[in-house]
Amino acid sequence: MGKDYDAVIIGAGPGGYAAGIKCARNGLKTAVIERDKPGGTCLNYGCIPSKALLGSAEFIIKARHAHLMGLDVSFGEPNWGKIQSRKDAIVKSFTSGVEGLLRSNGAELIRDDAVAEGRGSVRLNNSGELLTCKNIILASGSEPKEIPSIPFDGEKVISSKEALSLSEIPKSLVIIGGGVIGCEMGCLYAALGCKTTIIEALPRLLPREDDWMGRLLEKEFRKINLKALTDVKVSSADTSGDLCRLNLSSGEVLESEKVLVAVGRSPVISEETAEALSLEFNGGEVVIDEKMRTSAEGVYALGDLAGKTYLAHGAYLEAEILADILAGKDGKIKDYRLVPRAVYSFPEAAGVGLSEKEAQERGIDYSVTKSGFLANGRSLAHNQTAGEVRVIKNNADGRIIGVSMVGESATEMISSARLIMGTNEKAGEVSFPHPTVSEVLKEAWMGAYGESIHLPPKR
Ligand code: NAD
Repeated sequence: MGKDYDAVIIGAGPGGYAAGIKCARNGLKTAVIERDKPGGTCLNYGCIPSKALLGSAEFIIKARHAHLMGLDVSFGEPNWGKIQSRKDAIVKSFTSGVEGLLRSNGAELIRDDAVAEGRGSVRLNNSGELLTCKNIILASGSEPKEIPSIPFDGEKVISSKEALSLSEIPKSLVIIGGGVIGCEMGCLYAALGCKTTIIEALPRLLPREDDWMGRLLEKEFRKINLKALTDVKVSSADTSGDLCRLNLSSGEVLESEKVLVAVGRSPVISEETAEALSLEFNGGEVVIDEKMRTSAEGVYALGDLAGKTYLAHGAYLEAEILADILAGKDGKIKDYRLVPRAVYSFPEAAGVGLSEKEAQERGIDYSVTKSGFLANGRSLAHNQTAGEVRVIKNNADGRIIGVSMVGESATEMISSARLIMGTNEKAGEVSFPHPTVSEVLKEAWMGAYGESIHLPPKR
């Protein structure tokens, strides 16, 4: 007979580790099982390493404009080796932090490959051990989507994972997909001096946001030598030579050293687990309700596996609420659109609540107010005047139903936008984007009620 738990969590990404810490704090006997590195995609192959690299790239852009700030400085080539080492050190400190947090809060981290054998029963493939539990939380995440005609080879055709750890800065790069990863990685490599082109199948960059945002980004990207081709598809690709050759639907032919495919992500779950639990799927995503319940009793799913936001902070929110539900408290996700969207491009872009497109589709009587960075003293002082903020108000009740922005500190300011959209909410119900400096405030706000999973429990 193996060990028995209140909660067994499969996956130690932001959703899984946050659920682990909070379940343990709530007095539940908890195990979190991870077959790769603790911290999941976000800490190891996503949010944290990409923002570390973008942090270096931002310096390059700023240094290029130093003369506009009254500084006569000369600037050499970026040292990619040092930029990579800095990023690796940041990632390492965070992943060991996750292990420490789980341990200090009393959750067990098991390094193994887990398969659910049925409700309340999880097998560890390497040790052969069988765990029994009251609740299973599936938090196994997602992986980059492949384009079947241009399969990943990890060398010339790469995903966002390899793009964060290339041995050299490529001379040329084509990015297929002008969504969040396309815009962020495009800015990174363009700033590093790589000839970078984004190809987006839809008419705008960031097509899930309002058109003005993609249009403005496209214009601003040109200033950092980042080219975007929109409304264009790859008709055929030949990656057998030294350079990849892409024939586009526009008739144009592009050649590049590497092709980064960034056309979305797909949930990851073993067939064995899905069958054993008779899970219901929508596309590749596990179907959950507002309490993260799957179709199997005592089995919950959250994060990218359930595909509600594909955002680390969306998974955090789900984890916080689910851990309370399992401890017998009331709770549910009220509105996934209130999870802010943040794009760390140059300039940044962010949104929360409804886009104007969505307000129109829902037949809402709304009005939009625009405010530009050009008229802002701090933005002028920083020489960061591109962009604007748009606030969408429901005319029927005067409530703010959406905020979108492109410009300096958009990924930070969107947290303030999130706060003006809610009333009488508890800290645990409010999502701030990850990773942002604003999270420091959120942690202290949560901490004031003894609810921050990243701070020591209040005694
Ligand atoms: P995405 O959904 O943001 O963008 C994919 C883009 O690819 C879309 O614009 C789509 O129209 C386009 N596309 C699809 N097929 C194409 C084709 N054949 N040719 C050209 N374009 C094509 O997905 P992503 O950028 O891969 O990111 C994956 C997920 O990870 C997203 O949900 C994203 O929100 C999340 N993510 C978030 C952050 C952040 O919060 N800052 C950073 C990275 C990733």
